[in-house]
Amino acid sequence: MSSKVPPIILNNGVEMPQLGFGVWQVPNDEAEQAVATALEAGYRSIDTAAAYGNEEGTGKALAKSGVARQDLFITTKLWNTDQGYDSTLRAFDESLDRLGLDYVDLYLIHWPLPARGTFVETYKAFETIYSDGRAKAIGVCNFLPEHLDELSGATNVVPAVNQIELHPFLQQLPDRKYNAERGIAIEAWSPLGRGQGLLEVPAITAIAQKHGRTPAQVVLRWHLQLGNIVIPKSVTPSRIKENIEVFDFSLDADDIAAISALNEDRRLGPDPATFNLV
Ligand code: NDP
Repeated sequence: MSSKVPPIILNNGVEMPQLGFGVWQVPNDEAEQAVATALEAGYRSIDTAAAYGNEEGTGKALAKSGVARQDLFITTKLWNTDQGYDSTLRAFDESLDRLGLDYVDLYLIHWPLPARGTFVETYKAFETIYSDGRAKAIGVCNFLPEHLDELSGATNVVPAVNQIELHPFLQQLPDRKYNAERGIAIEAWSPLGRGQGLLEVPAITAIAQKHGRTPAQVVLRWHLQLGNIVIPKSVTPSRIKENIEVFDFSLDADDIAAISALNEDRRLGPDPATFNLV
């Protein structure tokens, strides 16, 4: 995989770029342009989802880009309403159709929905898709340790990735440790804290000034040095470029400590223990 972004080796040996491009809240008709800009800037990993409604626009950009399929890393996710064995297989086919692909690199369960009790059978369909080679890796999002325990008691393939909300205001130390001990890579969603307030925090702007970088670059660097996979989203071309220019500088131990001191265990999104939207 040729890219300016180094890979993380997942637990099944698949290489995943440590930094990718998220497209939540990018309308379908704008996704093509945003993804094209990201591919031009050097991103090779794209994080979409059935629920984002932009798999089609994303797929158009991939097809037109001229980037070889084996150099791309495409993630999509199964939406809540489609949990269940047969419905998952159907929804996966529909995602592939919309993306215009014959496989994805990573397929993720979007939310555990514990009150519904269907994530185990859903994951069994993921194992079928995986053994068919139509997803090179499978995993989950928003799974708490208790959900992963239930999964490991009833299924065979250890999830390659757990994509969770993670940024300096919500650092998820116990969950990061739990996943690391089981060989599950952590992927940070809302890695920039959705740009809300985090990028103006004095501790971060001071580090940015010290390195002659932007606050977003400093936060992304913090994630990368912790070993997190990140998928910052932007529809702004200058920010799309800025967010991938993070492999030519390093934070020192003091910088990392100052950012790590910002934890408030503060979620910006829903709590996976209680979120049950279908
Ligand atoms: P991010 O933390 O990536 O922040 C995105 C926001 O920050 C946008 O408003 C963007 O503005 C702004 N921004 C981006 N780059 C910069 C910059 N360099 N300087 C200043 N502001 C900037 O939030 P997301 O919630 O989008 O998370 C990233 C991705 O994670 C999503 O797109 C999605 O792929 C995934 N995700 C997964 C979830 C899950 O449940 N599995 C849940 C939520 C997200 P603008 O676009 O206007 O430039």
